[in-house]
Amino acid sequence: MKNRPNEADSKPAAQPCLFSSIEEQTRSPRARGVWIVVLPAFALLIAVVTVQTAPVIHRAPPPLQTFAKPRSIPPTLPPKTARQKAKATEPVVRVNVTPGGVKSFELDVRGRCRLSSLETNEELASEAGLSRIVVTSTPKGLKLGSRQYATKQIEIQPDQSPSIRVDGHLYRGRLRLFRRADGLISAVNVLPLEEYLASVVDSEMPTKFPEAARQAQAIVARTYALYQVRHADPNSQFDLFSSQRSQKYLGVEYVDNSGRRLAGESESSRRVVRETRGVICTLRNELFCTYYSAVCGGRTINGDEVFKDATDALKSVPCEWCRESPHYRWTTELSRDAFQQRATSSNNSGKKIVSIRSIRQTTSPGTGLISRFELDAEKERPSVSGIELRDRLPPGTLHSPHFQIKLEKNRVVFDGRGHGHGVGFCQWGAKGQAEAGRTSTEIIRHYFSGIELTNLGY
Ligand SMILES: [Zn+2]
Repeated sequence: MKNRPNEADSKPAAQPCLFSSIEEQTRSPRARGVWIVVLPAFALLIAVVTVQTAPVIHRAPPPLQTFAKPRSIPPTLPPKTARQKAKATEPVVRVNVTPGGVKSFELDVRGRCRLSSLETNEELASEAGLSRIVVTSTPKGLKLGSRQYATKQIEIQPDQSPSIRVDGHLYRGRLRLFRRADGLISAVNVLPLEEYLASVVDSEMPTKFPEAARQAQAIVARTYALYQVRHADPNSQFDLFSSQRSQKYLGVEYVDNSGRRLAGESESSRRVVRETRGVICTLRNELFCTYYSAVCGGRTINGDEVFKDATDALKSVPCEWCRESPHYRWTTELSRDAFQQRATSSNNSGKKIVSIRSIRQTTSPGTGLISRFELDAEKERPSVSGIELRDRLPPGTLHSPHFQIKLEKNRVVFDGRGHGHGVGFCQWGAKGQAEAGRTSTEIIRHYFSGIELTNLGY
């Protein structure tokens, strides 16, 4: 999901869909024949272009060549042929597990591993293991424990997986270390998409949520991740953050703030990922960004209200399914001084208090629009959106950008709805729908309008 960077704890979400799905199109023998001819040719073209221009394996987009539904969905197509299967490759994702960069971190690798330079492809070392060493940067490169390397990019390839720990998080796959221009270090976990998703599902949605909701979460998270892989800057060293800036990804297990070791994935999350393997949402046969948030609060928000790359699949839809969430409706407050100190753009430094005489809300709640306000301040009448206020007020004051404001003598009261940006898939709504007996497909199609479900067939 792409939540906004400061979206803290929320999880649940959902999306809708349409009629002319790929599954339906391919029920026609004629249409099926066209796909059989066109898609392998397209796949071959993509493969050739990728090999010539993109040395990174995971950048090879898997061809959209098969359209079977996940196991939970009644199949409408014959099984894939061996030839079709052979063409599909599971994508690889690169996840930045140190968002923002760090000065140092603790690294532990159980079992043998090989270190190589990504700059020169030269093998640097073969180690029997790395036991809780500290990784830091040097002016010319990187330092792992007591060993210095004159390269700014190192890949660690362990013999076994999972065996890499970064600051207590155990990850599958490989690890890449980058010394950034500012001297900070980025650690990037490189692993197969489906292994990544097994942790994302549990990191993003409680294990007690019903199976259909978690299957829908797996499909939505897979689509989100693949969209980010395909749209990453060609010069970027990673595709996704491990925080809610992209999707939360805790790894196989992790140590929390109180020192407890907790599971970051489970048999349940691995199962729902397996049951939906390769299935993504597409709109007119194209990937789109499946934004999602914890609780929409009764109606999702039009995607283009919040995100520049929102498609028409992200149009506002009603959702009464998230009523059980504690954030369906919420009330918080702030002292009037604290509010006046931060609310107007002109005094955003927080040093000067601008008196606000009144506030007029210029959008109606529950209409698919974000909240907008006009402030009657001392010498100005600034307009401000719910998103801007959420950024300006202390963290935790506003759970979403959808609220009403009551200005009282000494305090300001916020009556809000939902948790998170409210666009797309509503996680708590997915829970409510699953409990009412809806399938993962029905849940997804509620929140993402006009989409198809496509099986990449790897
Ligand atoms: Zn909802």
